[in-house]
Parts: sequence; C-alpha cells; structure tokens
Amino acid sequence: MRLVLLGPPGAGKGTQARRLSGLLGVPHISTGDMLRLAIAQGTDVGRAVREFVESGRLVPDELMEEIVRIRLRQPDTGSGFILDGYPRTLRQAETLDRILTEDGRRLDRVVLFRVDLNVLVDRLSGRLVCPTCGANYHRKFHPPKDDLRCDRDGTPLVQRADDRPETIRSRLAGYAAQMEPVADYYRRRSLLLEVDAGDAPDAVTDRILRGLGIDSDRPFDEVRRA
Ligand code: AMP
Repeated sequence: MRLVLLGPPGAGKGTQARRLSGLLGVPHISTGDMLRLAIAQGTDVGRAVREFVESGRLVPDELMEEIVRIRLRQPDTGSGFILDGYPRTLRQAETLDRILTEDGRRLDRVVLFRVDLNVLVDRLSGRLVCPTCGANYHRKFHPPKDDLRCDRDGTPLVQRADDRPETIRSRLAGYAAQMEPVADYYRRRSLLLEVDAGDAPDAVTDRILRGLGIDSDRPFDEVRRA
C-alpha cells in the first residue's frame, strides 16, 4: 500500500500515519520529522533547512526532492509507505510521480484530511512534543500525566518553534493556497479520498480504513497480512 496523506498542519496526519503504519506494516515517512531530526543532529541537511523549518517556510524543492528520493529507495519501502508532509505543492506532486515511476512504482491512494480552521488553530497552539522521542501531546486534548514531561522518558516537553500563533497563521494561509491544486491533481487521477478529520482520532482512523476498503474490525495481524 503506497499512500500519501495530505492535509493542513494540525489535521492529525502524523497521528493517523503512525496508526496506519502499525496496521498495514509499512513505514511512516514524515518529511517534517526527517527535517527536525536532521536539525537536531546538526547534519549538513539540518543546517541547510533550519531557517526554513523554524519559520514555517517551505524548504526548496530541489533539496526536498533529494531527501524524498533517497528515503523512498530504502529497502523498508518495498511493501509500501505512508508519506506524510510530501507533496505540498503541485510541483512536488509531479516530482513524486517521477521518483516513483523511475522505480516502476505508483501511488495507490491519497487521503486528504479536511478540518475546520478554528479547530486547527486550537490543536496547533496547544501542541507539545518530546524533544527526545518525538511523542506528541496537547495541553487540552492529550495532556501528559506529569506536569509537562514526556510520559515515556520524563523529558520536559516543548512547543515546536513553528507552532507559535504568528507562525501558525502564515503556515495555514500558505497551505490553503498550495494544497487545492495538489488535491485536484490527485482527484483527476481518481486517487483522492477526502476524509472529515475534525473528530477524535479513533473515528478518523475508522473513516480512513473504511475509505480504503480495509475492514477495521479484523485483528491487526490479519489486516497486515491482507
Ligand atoms: P510538518 O511537520 O509536516 O508540518 O513540516 C514542518 C516543516 O518542515 C514545514 O513547515 C517546512 O518548513 C518543512 N517541510 C516539511 N515537508 C516539506 C515539503 N514537502 N516541502 C517543503 N518543506 C517541507
């Protein structure tokens, strides 16, 4: 199963991608996570992208193309992948097709997460992450057990630099302008599955699985083998 998840920041793509990855037994590839890791590790790529990521601006296409091409050629993508955060522009969508075609592959489905703007701002402004393990929390919807520390490793949680209110607004405005042409591109190819993602995570997972034609009542192992 080769899937792309599209949706605005805060739509819950990361949460759903992790669940689908477990269910389907294919890797979750988040370009945002890859870039943040590169920044934290101080690699050449990390130094090149730091300013873009922290201000919420898009990293240049040529650099993203290389990062995605290298990742999609790793052996764990043999049975598929869940791509989260790429493509973000029409040009990136065309590039992704080219990268896959080079290897004789193509996408199976593209899931578009639809969420009301006010819900997004609420979700993003309360989001907290663990800088050690990457776990996500939310001040209101999913608070950590112990006073702003990660439940898994006790690290003090932080707010992502690009989740500050002024950056949130510019990220969402940029998203809307760029995503509709991408959605259209996949709609024309009959790959697009639009999902109302404004509810709690379990309901959204069910909707996605139903839309993909996967029976969510079956045990995980059975779904994975299917
Ligand atoms: P995300 O975690 O998907 O919200 O991504 C965080 C940041 O990483 C974005 O605001 C961009 O600066 C950068 N980024 C992630 N994916 C891409 C992409 N496909 N193209 C350009 N920049 C990206």
